[in-house]
Amino acid sequence: ADDVALDPWGSSSVSDYRNLFEQFGIEEFDEILEAVPNPHYLMRRGVIFGHRDYRPVAEALQNDEPAAVLSGFMPTGDPHIGHKLVFDEIIWHQQQGADAYGLIADLEANSARGMSWAEIDEHARDYLLSLLALGFDPEEGELYRQSTNRELQDLAFELGAEANFSEFQAIYGFDGETDVSHMQSVVTQMADILYPQLEEPKPTVIPVGPDQDPHVRLARDLAERMRFFKVSEAYASFELEPAERALVAEFYQDLDPAAFDDDQLRCVHVAEALEETPLSEIDVDADTLRAVLTKLEEAGMEPIRPRTRFFDRRATDEAFDALIDAIEGEKRVYENHVDAFDLEPAEAQELAREVEVANGGYGFQPPSSIYHRFMTGLTGGKMSSSIPASHISLLDDPEDGYDKVKAATTGGRETAEEQREKGGKADECPVYELYAYLLAGDDDEFAKRVYDECVGGERLCGDCKEQAAQLMKEFLVEHQEKREEVTDLLEEADIELES
Ligand code: SF4
Repeated sequence: ADDVALDPWGSSSVSDYRNLFEQFGIEEFDEILEAVPNPHYLMRRGVIFGHRDYRPVAEALQNDEPAAVLSGFMPTGDPHIGHKLVFDEIIWHQQQGADAYGLIADLEANSARGMSWAEIDEHARDYLLSLLALGFDPEEGELYRQSTNRELQDLAFELGAEANFSEFQAIYGFDGETDVSHMQSVVTQMADILYPQLEEPKPTVIPVGPDQDPHVRLARDLAERMRFFKVSEAYASFELEPAERALVAEFYQDLDPAAFDDDQLRCVHVAEALEETPLSEIDVDADTLRAVLTKLEEAGMEPIRPRTRFFDRRATDEAFDALIDAIEGEKRVYENHVDAFDLEPAEAQELAREVEVANGGYGFQPPSSIYHRFMTGLTGGKMSSSIPASHISLLDDPEDGYDKVKAATTGGRETAEEQREKGGKADECPVYELYAYLLAGDDDEFAKRVYDECVGGERLCGDCKEQAAQLMKEFLVEHQEKREEVTDLLEEADIELES
């Protein structure tokens, strides 16, 4: 399928994950697995298969630096075992030291799905109880609902000023019939994603299914757009002369130069000079560029290292002269463009944020995301909240959970003989998924044994389902007991629910 549609409100299942890597720039999780401290079993087993810019989060966890995790739940039905993946992801990040946020997308449920407030509150309670029962620590983390979070709504309003209708049209397919609340629910969701960074910018991960990727991409975009001071790249190994410092200070009267060190000021300074005539907009060849560099050096702006991509362009004399003028005449500019400098993107980002925060802005870091596979429905196809037999609700009677597993489709062969001979198709089996995603817990060996025995023909579906059904029943009994135990925690968590 060339055209995997990612529609956060649709029911499209993403059949070819590989496509996502190419088409949308989602990166393979495997490639950063080793950078993750104590990876969760969902990571180890490839259930979490992709990410967008997760490295800063992994590094922050590794180095005990601030990081955050946030995910939201739309309370339109019972929480089921598919949602448990997200609960687990939030809780794991919290246990690794991240600030954890769980939110109830009640405004979205009301506006986009037309749920009544009474229904929303009932389901919200169920989601939160399961999240707490699975180990979310409400003292360390924050639970909130969109409708009562004033800060969130203010942020949503601000973010709305950075987005427009055509963009929503392009991303979400909105049209003239789309109601305004639906658009508001998008900006509210954008605010949710950036909310953990309101006090202080920090790497933040949003664990989601791949269908939510459009939201993540838009949030990353908006985070950038909120910057009134953009340093896309800069170079930070300069000494700054007193006269230059004064010059910079003059142009940044609103900034406090004392808040920056010399290197940063120098960056800002060079960045300014270049913005007047950005190199990337001039066709400049190698000789021309070298001449410019000499000029820069003569102006005391060494050392700078050009990026090779400018070398094969041709400069017009006019443009070249303008550039030289800009440098020689010490024209000052207020924005910047520093493509000609060699700075690690992360360093440049950091610099941009520092400048922005010092200037009273948010300095948001573009949020990261991790993507988990959708669980296959027990009856085949996608697991769906609206088809009870396809999923196991965390609230299901344990006996019903047992029965549903017993009735599940499998990747087994027509006959026991064939199964012994060819082995089962564990990769296509929803029952195997139950083991890998949930029932085997942290025990990789157990998960692997089920797999090997299945594909090796030693395991037959009847026994295999019986074992899975038993484990599911035990899980549900235990989970539901824990839910009872944490009702007090929910009362204490500062979230208003009508009960
Ligand atoms: Fe699925 Fe188990 Fe049958 Fe293998 S033996 S196909 S894992 S039910």
